[in-house]
Amino acid sequence: MLARRLQRVFFRQIAAIAQKTRSRAVEGAASCNVSHLNPTLQQAPQFGWQARTYFNDPRGAYVHFKPRGGPSRGSRQTAVLAVAGGGVIIFYYTHREEIPYTHRRHAVFVSPETEKMLGLQTFQQVKAEAEAAGKLLPPQHPAVRSVRAIGERIAAHAADPAGGGRIDHMKGLKWEFVVINEPGNVNAFVMPGGKVVVYTGLLQLLRKEDEVAAVLGHEVAHVLARHIGEKLSSVAVFSLLQILLAVTLGFNIPSDVFQLAVFLPNSRKQESEADVIGIHLSARACFDPTAAVDVFTKLGEAEKSAGVRTPGFLRTHPLSQKRVEAIEKNLPKALEDYELAGCNAPRGWFPW
Ligand SMILES: [Zn+2]
Repeated sequence: MLARRLQRVFFRQIAAIAQKTRSRAVEGAASCNVSHLNPTLQQAPQFGWQARTYFNDPRGAYVHFKPRGGPSRGSRQTAVLAVAGGGVIIFYYTHREEIPYTHRRHAVFVSPETEKMLGLQTFQQVKAEAEAAGKLLPPQHPAVRSVRAIGERIAAHAADPAGGGRIDHMKGLKWEFVVINEPGNVNAFVMPGGKVVVYTGLLQLLRKEDEVAAVLGHEVAHVLARHIGEKLSSVAVFSLLQILLAVTLGFNIPSDVFQLAVFLPNSRKQESEADVIGIHLSARACFDPTAAVDVFTKLGEAEKSAGVRTPGFLRTHPLSQKRVEAIEKNLPKALEDYELAGCNAPRGWFPW
């Protein structure tokens, strides 16, 4: 009963998020991009939709603490908080699932259908805006055809059970790969449901098919690991806890606490995880996984020349040097996959 009530609260939160997919905050949460270079994502997303409950001070100033009631009222509030908090913890642990390849367990309360719906809305909007600006490359363009061919080859391997963990959300996905002509945008991103956007600024940096495969492996990995569902779920849990604390104790947790303590560290963890899963997927699709090292070395150099100096703890993505180190650590296993796949298909330069 309690679990059902909590579920309803979560879904209301998710519905609120869905209505605000146009906000910059949720665009940050509803897509996973490959680099820290996109100017719109250099700053941590702000959760503007988040409910804030302030209580008015008789002197006219806003304060964060509600005047307390007597001891009996306080103990009743503590009991409500304990029961509800316990419910949240139970709900969290009963909705955990295992991520393929890394075998990390995470909680996702959002259904794959909700994820797909959010992803499709954002994707259609991004495509429509690019088309209106004359920046969407046509499907027959050599770069688009090549991105699509590489991406579909990788996505085909993401839907098989080789990596273990949960994969049923990968069945029947309609993968789409589009290229937007923005030479100054060194980035790519993915939305749930398998909708991938690559910018020409990134393709100009990557010259080999193996390097493009490293990026697309990373993007496909985000979908396989349900990272966006995890992000939306953590936002919903935080919102619920925030409401509970405000209602019972009159205490507001500032959103910045959530961003610094939960959202940004998790975002960096997900990016590293997508790097690791990505090299397995690209290796199994017969692309050289060592190319990922070159890609993130190049991205690191591009960040330096672009003057990106955001401190590590304020970043949505790990530092490129750390990404290279983590990839190198996991390369031996990915190279095993590459050998086992019996790859001998020649790979060439990206047609650009
Ligand atoms: Zn990413």
